Amino acid sequence: MFLGVHVSISGKIYESVDRAASLGCSAMQIFSRNPRQWRQLELGEDDAREFRKRRKEQGVEVVAVHVPYLINLATSYGPLYKKSIAAYIEDMQEAALLGAEYVVTHMGSYKNSTLPQGLKAFIAAVDEIFKETKGLSVKLLLENTAGSGSWLGATFDHHRRIFEHVKDSHRLGVCLDTAHVFEAGFDIRRPQVVDMLLAQIEEKTRKGAIHVVHLNDSMTPKSSHHDRHQHIGKGLIGGAALKYIVNHPVLREAAFILETPKETPHSDGMNMKRLRSMVA
Ligand SMILES: [Zn+2]
Repeated sequence: MFLGVHVSISGKIYESVDRAASLGCSAMQIFSRNPRQWRQLELGEDDAREFRKRRKEQGVEVVAVHVPYLINLATSYGPLYKKSIAAYIEDMQEAALLGAEYVVTHMGSYKNSTLPQGLKAFIAAVDEIFKETKGLSVKLLLENTAGSGSWLGATFDHHRRIFEHVKDSHRLGVCLDTAHVFEAGFDIRRPQVVDMLLAQIEEKTRKGAIHVVHLNDSMTPKSSHHDRHQHIGKGLIGGAALKYIVNHPVLREAAFILETPKETPHSDGMNMKRLRSMVA
């Protein structure tokens, strides 16, 4: 089991490792680029080497790189689709250069088209990305969503379709976001629902497919389809339910990464402390 938090990439990229290590993280997540911009962070070989060196020295065992929302592989809008695929290939290459284990992605939105077309577009995009990044060992993890509007991934039937149809599906995995799954309608406050959910995900994708859990409490109610993260134990999922998930045997090899609010400089430390206290 690995525990960590999403950290900022401001300044030099390798400083993000120091931020995670100062919080006692054995896992960390960063954005591949500024979430609101297309511009590349222009990763140099020297900075990447320093990143790899620092994570090794400081015991950060798992690194996940999150692709921001503006990249949309399910869109029916041609220019955005092409731009998204190109950006994605760069992000996979940069993640590999950083020695990251995982790239985490949302599955995009099929706005102005249909669900089958959105899935088809996503599958074709992943095939192209995998073809262009052949040989890279970094795994692509598909994150579930809260199910607002036309976003893919609120049901694991979407994951199933993608796992079935992508050519190199062994390069795929799952990132389970606890807030999103609750907001999408799964009552994970109940242990039997968690058991059923995890079994269902493995059945629809692959055994051992869940490599990362975004451990977040939720500010909004079950089935709200509204994505708002809350501090661990302070939201509507609650500490007891999150503790059950953290210690679940199906997730023994997974990395638990917090994407909780960063209201004060102490927020991450507080949530990490809560997370550590949950480990049985
Ligand atoms: Zn997430």
